[in-house]
Amino acid sequence: SNPLDKDQMQGLRGVREFLKVRTSYDVLPLSFRLVILDNDLLIRKSLNILIQNGIVSAPLWDSRNGTFAGLLTSTDYINVIQYYCQFPHEIDQVDQFRLSSLRDIERAIGVLPLETVSVHPMRPLYEACRRMLKTRARRIPLIDTDDETGRETVVSVITQYRILKFIAVNNEQHTMLLKKPVREIGLGTYNDLATATMNSSVLDVIHLMVKYNISAVPIVDKDNRVLNLFEAVDVIPCIKGGAYDELTATVGEALSQRAEDFAGIYTCSEEDRLDSIFETIRKSRVHRLIVVDDDSRLKGIISLSDILKYVLLYGEEEDDLQEY
Ligand code: ADP
Repeated sequence: SNPLDKDQMQGLRGVREFLKVRTSYDVLPLSFRLVILDNDLLIRKSLNILIQNGIVSAPLWDSRNGTFAGLLTSTDYINVIQYYCQFPHEIDQVDQFRLSSLRDIERAIGVLPLETVSVHPMRPLYEACRRMLKTRARRIPLIDTDDETGRETVVSVITQYRILKFIAVNNEQHTMLLKKPVREIGLGTYNDLATATMNSSVLDVIHLMVKYNISAVPIVDKDNRVLNLFEAVDVIPCIKGGAYDELTATVGEALSQRAEDFAGIYTCSEEDRLDSIFETIRKSRVHRLIVVDDDSRLKGIISLSDILKYVLLYGEEEDDLQEY
């Protein structure tokens, strides 16, 4: 058999073992800041708070019942935009919506509520990964309960990015064995790609994200060369202050207003190997990779969920997976 196959399997097994002996708690930095939003806050105001804190998501807290009330993410804002598109005459009402109305908005536009899964911080990291894959959640809150009072505490939130970064930084001895090209292992999506151009409106791109259930759309020129990437989180500054009518602006206009510290977009080729992708994750803030050819033409897209799925599930027997 191919020695690359053997190394690859050994690498994957090594990473899986690593995830089983580490906890979600291990992923957290020694000290961190956690912004939690009160469920009674106006949605309009929540936007500014996220922007001011340089974050794109926050746990919600129901202070009346003293319970965790779900995670606020860019998907929620996209839902509000869809609501606004379906009920354009209700703009005054939209302005008065509180975070606690997000579930009603989901119902009104007919989307399924996102399952709010959480994990205990001291459970194996492997478990958090499996839950994320099962529910397609991109981030998962770590919830602890106080033994005495029985009250819940939100310890932190871990993302797919954090987990892959943790693997990349701490488990290089196994990731370096992953030497098969992404093309060969079928990592990512290569058919039926959703794309847009600089002249598409922000609203068009949002509709694409909803239709395909994806969190980023490559922006290409007429020759399919990749110019940029519009991400679900790019929606947040677009509607700052409740400016839903500005979504008719073009992608080009919206992207020109990106923050100074924007991490940039990352590309790779079909010949690149997973070990070098982990290398990129180790060094940079990567949220997905765009696969291009030598002429920068779009070939595919590799999301963090594609990587996580491959690393956790490739070659596993269905039976072994039942327990998660
Ligand atoms: P994540 O779940 O990591 O946030 P996405 O939601 O962007 O990633 O991706 C979900 C799935 O859709 C992945 O399998 C990915 O390869 C695929 N995908 C991502 N972007 C696009 C796109 N623009 N067109 C088609 N498929 C995509």
